[in-house]
Amino acid sequence: MARSSFQSPKGIRDVLPEEQPYWHRVEETIRKIVRLYGYERLDLPVFEETALYRRGVGEGTDIVEKEMYTFLDRSEKSFTLRPEFTAGVMRAYIEHGLAQRPRPFKVWSLGPVFRYERPQAGRYRQHTQFNVEALGEIDPALDFEIMSVAYHLYSDLGFRNLNFQINSIGCPECRPGFLKQLTAYYAGRKDDICEDCRKRLDVNPLRLLDCKVPACQPVIESAPRISGVLCDECRDHFARLRTYLDNAGRPYVINHRLVRGLDYYTKTVFEVWAEGIGAQNAVCGGGRYDGLAEAVGGVPTPAVGFASGIERIVLTMQSQDGAPPAPPHPAVFLVMQVPQAGEQVVSLLAELRAAGVDAMMAFGGRSMKAQMREANKRNAEYVVIIGERELADGTVTVKYMDAEGQETIARDSLIGFIRARLHE
Ligand SMILES: [Zn+2]
Ligand SMILES: [Zn+2]
Repeated sequence: MARSSFQSPKGIRDVLPEEQPYWHRVEETIRKIVRLYGYERLDLPVFEETALYRRGVGEGTDIVEKEMYTFLDRSEKSFTLRPEFTAGVMRAYIEHGLAQRPRPFKVWSLGPVFRYERPQAGRYRQHTQFNVEALGEIDPALDFEIMSVAYHLYSDLGFRNLNFQINSIGCPECRPGFLKQLTAYYAGRKDDICEDCRKRLDVNPLRLLDCKVPACQPVIESAPRISGVLCDECRDHFARLRTYLDNAGRPYVINHRLVRGLDYYTKTVFEVWAEGIGAQNAVCGGGRYDGLAEAVGGVPTPAVGFASGIERIVLTMQSQDGAPPAPPHPAVFLVMQVPQAGEQVVSLLAELRAAGVDAMMAFGGRSMKAQMREANKRNAEYVVIIGERELADGTVTVKYMDAEGQETIARDSLIGFIRARLHE
């Protein structure tokens, strides 16, 4: 094989045909689940004005500070490749007046997102996200529905040991009080925490709780917990969500460290964990963001959603070592024994496809042996051979690939013959 002088950009990968059966399986399952729950598809542009993400993802986040692919177009306007879907969904909701439709407005999206991250397993600079959002309702039954969409998807994909990690991060009423407690607690421990945490203390104190640096763990362990200071509305909302989860028998753990460091995230935060790449592995993250609409210039609109990376889903499928989904293979592979049969083979191929039978032929006038080898590699169910005798008699010879034997039949009866056997 000739060595190419180009490679895909660092942290960006090709999805080759052999991996596609996994993707196909995931996409099929997604389509089934969103129909079941009544979500409609929404497609968004791959890039938007940079200011939308600065406001909608948030200044001070890793995404905005370090990870966005931002560029000036030829008229010197700043655009950014979408690092996530939610800001764009909200932009579209406001721009098209979608609040006028029945509420909640329930949509899903699927496509690439771009983040300049350190590449690692399941995390790429271009990765594909499945995103689900429901806008216009604060009812905790909707949080439960969104979480159920995620749970249903992963259980249909056969994931083992599924559980929710959940938390409530309060609202603009109750969170400021908690942040005061938290910063007071951390102020006396500046020497015990990592450098990033010292910055977070000023910029984004809630994020102190999700630091992964070992030195910070004991400090987090004894930090104040937001559950103690939730306002009545937030406490009631969280209690009702837990009741729905209990009633449905969904396993969950209240995880006090699960946070989102931005003002417009409110109340519910959750992740779904599954047995996977590590012992436990987050396959999706989501939550409520009742303040986002205002942050990007709309009227107050409660909303809840989640996002899940398809690459991580595929890795989890592979690591749970279920049998890979069967790759597609042709029902019929056409072989010409002599070059004069070429015209017949091309016509017959078109007839088979027109009749809905998936079929292939060998190209390039190769030897009979080479054609048979290709039929084998492509895992065809039947090989149909046309040689001199078949040309003269108006027949074809059908060979069964998974069993001994072959038979010669009239060319005109081939489609009926194959269809009858495919339906057996
Ligand atoms: Zn509250
Ligand atoms: Zn830290």
